[in-house]
Amino acid sequence: MHYPEPISKLIDSFMKLPGIGPKTAVRLAFFVLDMREDDVLDFGRALVNAKRNLIYCSTCFHITDRDPCMICDNSSRDRTTICVVHDSKDVIAMEKMKDYQGMYHVLHGSISPIEGVGPEDIKIAELLQRLADDTVQEIILATDPNIEGEATAMYIARLLKPTGIKVTRIAHGLPVGGDLEYADEVTLSKALEGRREI
Ligand SMILES: [Zn+2]
Repeated sequence: MHYPEPISKLIDSFMKLPGIGPKTAVRLAFFVLDMREDDVLDFGRALVNAKRNLIYCSTCFHITDRDPCMICDNSSRDRTTICVVHDSKDVIAMEKMKDYQGMYHVLHGSISPIEGVGPEDIKIAELLQRLADDTVQEIILATDPNIEGEATAMYIARLLKPTGIKVTRIAHGLPVGGDLEYADEVTLSKALEGRREI
C-alpha cells in the first residue's frame, strides 16, 4: 500500500512502539489525521517534553524531572529500607499500593545470560554504594517473579551476605513469570507483607 510520505512516516513511527503491528499503526495514523490540530500539537509536545525533561535520579535511578527525585527527597520516608526493583514502572506500582514508606533502588534490568546482561550492566554497584554509611538495615528484593528476576535477587542476596544487612525477598503469590507492575495492589501488598529473609 502506498501512502503519501507524511502518513507513511507516521505509520513507521507508531510501528516502533511495543505491541503495535502494521494494522494498528495504520489505524492510529489515520486517527491522528482526524484529531483536532491543538490535540495533535499537545501530543507531540508531550512526547518531546517527556524525552527531554525526564532524567534518572542519581540516588535511586527512578525516572524524575528533578534530582534527587521526590521519593529520595522526602524526609518523612524510612531511609533504613530499600526496595530493589527492575524498572521505574515497578516503583509506580509500589507507590500506588501506599503501604510502603521506604526508599527504592531501580536496577534498570535483570541479569540474563541469554540476553548477555550481566551484573555490571545493571545498577548493582550503585546499590552497594548506598549501603556505605550503615543507614540501611533491610534490602527488599522485589525483582520480577521470573527466571531473570530470581537470578538477579539471588545474585544480590549473595553479594550482600557479608555486609550483615537483612535481605528479604517479596513473597510468591505474585503470578509466576509475571511482571511486578501488573500485579494488583492487594496482591502486591500481600507479597510485600509476606516477604522472607533469604
Ligand atoms: Zn531517587
